[in-house]
Amino acid sequence: MHLPDTMRAARLHRPRSADHPEDVRIDEVPVPTPAYGEVLVRVRACGICASDLHVVAGVTPHGPDLPQTLGHEPAGEIAALGDGVTDWQVGDRVAWVMSRPCGTCEYCRAGRENLCVIMAVAGVDYDGVQAEYAVADARFLVPLPGDMPFDRAAIVTDAVATPYHALKRGGVGQDMTVAVFGLGGLGMHAVLLAKLAGASVVGVDVEAVNLQRALDWGADEVVDGSEPGVARRIRELSEGGVDRSFEFVGLQSTVDQAVKALRPGGRATIVGLGPHAIQTVPIALFVSQETELIGSFGYTQQDLGELYDLVESGRLDLTRSVTDRLSIDEFPDALRRLETREGNPIRMVVTYD
Ligand SMILES: [Zn+2]
Ligand SMILES: [Zn+2]
Repeated sequence: MHLPDTMRAARLHRPRSADHPEDVRIDEVPVPTPAYGEVLVRVRACGICASDLHVVAGVTPHGPDLPQTLGHEPAGEIAALGDGVTDWQVGDRVAWVMSRPCGTCEYCRAGRENLCVIMAVAGVDYDGVQAEYAVADARFLVPLPGDMPFDRAAIVTDAVATPYHALKRGGVGQDMTVAVFGLGGLGMHAVLLAKLAGASVVGVDVEAVNLQRALDWGADEVVDGSEPGVARRIRELSEGGVDRSFEFVGLQSTVDQAVKALRPGGRATIVGLGPHAIQTVPIALFVSQETELIGSFGYTQQDLGELYDLVESGRLDLTRSVTDRLSIDEFPDALRRLETREGNPIRMVVTYD
């Protein structure tokens, strides 16, 4: 494979602040060189996530160096092998985990590399992968199903894998009742996956268009989160409360609702990231109902492999997940559309041909 010297990359030069707007540019930069144990991947698609927006808007801190390449939802094909890589070949179609786990700490060794002690996220803490090429740790690559389009494969690495990991943490099973708070890219896939697991699903969002879309994707009931009494309404719909709830928003109010929507013995799993403290039911109620409240962060290499197997077997249908395909030149405008919800995208993906 012929490798160019330079490539195009979507880079943050300056995040938004009170006195100036954000500065995101498409730059021509050197193609990176894979180090020992790494591969160079020709990126074929990279999804655009709300987390990109949070970094650009100055809500989430960026890494130590600017300009910094954005993006953490990639899929592509191997273009070159670094020294020491023997299990992979140029041309292999791959995705990889969006952090760069050390591979040696107790969490990594236990298959919980999402909790790695040197946890850092691509495009947030260091250069990301919204670019024509990227390097990846060969230990954390996952092969793609043979005929899966790159755009769909890319979004699995966050929009699908993060809710999948959460559903595993939450323990969703056949005939359970489940409430999903926040029906954006991650929440919609939580609905899809909970239905796949055989659960009955209530979707909650403040946007009517998202509620309708959740019904189209198989949600059994929806509740308008902008109206009062959300938790009470869910308890009515589920005859006493849901077995499991999942929160993808990261607000105090929705975390509180996710706990209050539970039946006794239920478990709430929080995925949305937010700066505020958790405040919910009185301790005595929490204890007497044996309520469980847990967090879920990212996903593991094993989760990714399981999801591609589900796609390959035909059980998981992601044909509706990518709503917009763009060129890298359209990336800055795509961030604006994500922020304003223009066109109500589920997932927008930059494709590289
Ligand atoms: Zn993301
Ligand atoms: Zn580690």
